[in-house]
Amino acid sequence: MTDEHSMEGKQSDPARTYDLVIVGGGPVGMALVLALRGSGISVLLLEARGLPEETEDARPLALSHGSRLILERLGVWRSLPSVTPITTIHVSSRGSFGRTVMTAGEVGVPALGYVVNHHDVFRSMHRALKRSGADYLTAAQALRLKADADVARIDFQHGDATQQAGTRLLVLADGGRLAAQVEGVTQHVRDYRQWAVVARVRSEYVPRLPEEAALPGLPVRGGGGIAASPAEAGVAYERFTPDGPVALLPMGEYFALVWTLPPAAAQGILALDETAFLARLHDRFGDRLGRFVEAGKRSGFPLALKYADPVTAPRVALVGNAAQTLHPVAGQGFNLGLRDAWELAREIIASPTEAGSSAMLARYRDRRRMDSGAGRIFTDSLVKLFSNDDPLLGSLRGAGLGALDCLPQVRRFVARRMMFGARG
Ligand SMILES: Cc1cc2nc3c(=O)[nH]c(=O)nc-3n(C[C@H](O)[C@H](O)[C@H](O)COP(=O)(O)OP(=O)(O)OC[C@H]3O[C@@H](n4cnc5c(N)ncnc54)[C@H](O)[C@@H]3O)c2cc1C
Repeated sequence: MTDEHSMEGKQSDPARTYDLVIVGGGPVGMALVLALRGSGISVLLLEARGLPEETEDARPLALSHGSRLILERLGVWRSLPSVTPITTIHVSSRGSFGRTVMTAGEVGVPALGYVVNHHDVFRSMHRALKRSGADYLTAAQALRLKADADVARIDFQHGDATQQAGTRLLVLADGGRLAAQVEGVTQHVRDYRQWAVVARVRSEYVPRLPEEAALPGLPVRGGGGIAASPAEAGVAYERFTPDGPVALLPMGEYFALVWTLPPAAAQGILALDETAFLARLHDRFGDRLGRFVEAGKRSGFPLALKYADPVTAPRVALVGNAAQTLHPVAGQGFNLGLRDAWELAREIIASPTEAGSSAMLARYRDRRRMDSGAGRIFTDSLVKLFSNDDPLLGSLRGAGLGALDCLPQVRRFVARRMMFGARG
């Protein structure tokens, strides 16, 4: 397919009715279009923002092994410019001796996860989409939707004109902004009163290479030596502190920091100069990697739990952050959203004439219920257990991590959950 199928800068045909209209060309909406390539389903994708080449998003994404498999099938994986495998996850709690270490070797996979840049995923998908033949409008903001048992209609602004498209199935992949307009869908929201501060940081020391010499599917490593970079060592750290978790994910020469804090503390951290910021991080994270010596641009994201119930309504389905927005502590949000898109595409392809019917929507809802519910409860429990300064919970945290360290089957269970979802 060639670029002429992309509709950037063009008008959509206002009279046209599509099999599928997707509102929101974030990574989940784009993944859905790519998963439907070659199926013969007519698709219109509306994205409010302009071209992704112009958007910078400092967020790191930890992708599960399951997500890698999906992105490979979508033809996106090999065009990602930088992917760092995580082969070891080190989990600890500040102020207690409890800690646990999970390795890819013990779970029998090449990597426990992969760290990529959010904007790299966005750009790679955008390029694949332009070649896909789908009608794809950027700078097109959906305004109002209306749905009945037979058809859904969406009004959207594109340039100076307001246009309308009709569809048998309207998918909201817009992060949850339009869900309030969908009759019968309730959005549950709980503000965590926390922010995530994100930045690239460089540490004085790089972790040692793991003792095991060879992991399946990865090059042979020198057991126990000093690694040349965080990427070579492949160790991710999750450290729970009374303010909230500090995650350091290996990303090339750097670590990608995701530091969760109460809003006022986060604002304070964002306002610090680099030296003070690095010293504060060292104080919170501890001495495991020595001092922190360099930090890139810092960004802050307010955090809330949001989920829609149910995730379907007549002629409407919700996917990705529109269906559930989670705390980043367990790195589950995009992984879950990608599985939403994949499973919805499977349902549509299995029976194209049924797209948007109540039977098809019920099957999608049922397929996603367990995975989405388990992801939400797992993530929310981690936030409750690990993001507060209750001293009793502090001792429980340490004891829990110590016990987990002695129970390889439970560790494998947790690792598989994080890699493949509830069906892991
Ligand atoms: C700090 C942080 C770290 C994270 N780390 C991880 C991680 O390690 N692993 C992981 O799996 N997940 C992680 N996540 C979660 C992940 O970023 C999200 O789950 C993912 O981006 C959701 O993608 P989405 O496409 O569903 O929604 P979004 O990325 O919100 O995209 C929605 C799109 O819809 C568009 N849109 C909105 N309204 C309209 C409209 N009216 N008309 C047209 N378009 C519209 C928006 O412009 C946007 O492009 C993290 C999140 C944060 C905040």
